[in-house]
Amino acid sequence: MLNKQWTGLLTATLLYTNVSATVWAQGDIDLTPSSPQRNVILIIGDGMDDQQITIARNYLVGANGRLLLDELPMRGAVQILAIEDKLGGKPVYVSDSANTATSIATGEITSRGRISTRAGDNQIFPTIAEIAQQRGFRTGLVSTASVTDATPAAFAAHMSARLCQSPDLMQEVFYSDVFMGDCAQETKAQGGPGSISEQLAESKLDVILGGGSQYFMPLTEGSTSSTVLETARAAGFTTVASAAELADVASVNRLLGLFSPDTMPVRLRGENGRKAESPEASWLNSIHRYLGDVTQPAAMVCEANPDFSGMPSLSEMTDAALHILDREESPGFFLMIESASIDKQSHYRKPCGSIGELEQLNEALASALAFAASHPNTLVLVTADHSQAAQLVPIDSLFRSFPIPIFTPGKLARIETPEGSLMAINYATNNFSAEEHTGANVPIFGNQEAIGRVPTFLSQPEIFEVMRDYLRLD
Ligand SMILES: [Zn+2]
Repeated sequence: MLNKQWTGLLTATLLYTNVSATVWAQGDIDLTPSSPQRNVILIIGDGMDDQQITIARNYLVGANGRLLLDELPMRGAVQILAIEDKLGGKPVYVSDSANTATSIATGEITSRGRISTRAGDNQIFPTIAEIAQQRGFRTGLVSTASVTDATPAAFAAHMSARLCQSPDLMQEVFYSDVFMGDCAQETKAQGGPGSISEQLAESKLDVILGGGSQYFMPLTEGSTSSTVLETARAAGFTTVASAAELADVASVNRLLGLFSPDTMPVRLRGENGRKAESPEASWLNSIHRYLGDVTQPAAMVCEANPDFSGMPSLSEMTDAALHILDREESPGFFLMIESASIDKQSHYRKPCGSIGELEQLNEALASALAFAASHPNTLVLVTADHSQAAQLVPIDSLFRSFPIPIFTPGKLARIETPEGSLMAINYATNNFSAEEHTGANVPIFGNQEAIGRVPTFLSQPEIFEVMRDYLRLD
């Protein structure tokens, strides 16, 4: 961009020669006189591959409708990659949110479960938020997960294992009674950075909004009286805990909002809380014409999740974050917004939950684009961290005429869409109580600022480079 003096001169020239500023603005030269700041708004749909987008589009706006996402002028594909947990490790083709968020936040590929640290030797990778902070930019993280969960954590914390979210979870972490590892060498007593919630409380972030209050309740390591939340307050964060408090908060300098103990409740759920179920096959048909029948799960609609009541929406959190981050005296800001439960609800085989979270992402995008419309040097990117299990499959099998029962070995949800059709969503990555991620490319979308800056096919570390270059952090 030109400096202020040149911008003023060119603007005057444009006025004098009566040339349309719109025409000039289409070239390489940025002539925007009112906004010398540069901002990046990065929206991550966790697990939001094209299957999840298509399922949500069909339900939310119909097969002939278009999501706001679909209207963005730039669209490409992003390759996902992890490596084994050792120096120079071989490629691992299916990722998790920790290593993928690390790639986007730092430009480095690492192993599954790591938060902005190097596979093999735990070296710390600086994040886009930390680099921006050093140059005076304001920074914020918004998520419908716990703010200590992998995606937001990777932008502002460093840890060998994502489960080390609070001071009491630094040693012998269990998940469903199974030992998952620890971060004993990363406590402050061992010279480490302390848990993820402590790192957030002691970070230079200006806005942190989402779930995860339980991770801020333990005492800060080494303190006999101060919880992590109190440590955050002492560091200058104003804290809020409800949608009403968020709506009333004044124009504070730093804001920490924690609206639920862990992941925030989702907006939609299956009818009476239903999720995908197993088809039932009978190998003896009552008419004896065929060898058997299949009873598919009963169709259902999506309904409002009562637990969502009282929660701020993702767009309300986005608006609050933008209001606080946009300050005239700063060179701009970096904001990451995550719609987390597209992924988490897919793990639980709950397609309605994923659909509602994608709707939330679409609304947050509307907030971001409205901001960008009045702040021209704002790059808006939307992408996903990895693909997920849910697949859109036929309502009637192509092979239904065969004289044997044909059915999925996985779980199936059949959803009645508002436009009157049925949609079948299949989950079949394993036989456990939770589904797995998958390894396909994910999409990336961008506003006008992304055109010419984001290749149509790129790897996740290149997203970091695009954001760093846009904010001129070299
Ligand atoms: Zn996941």
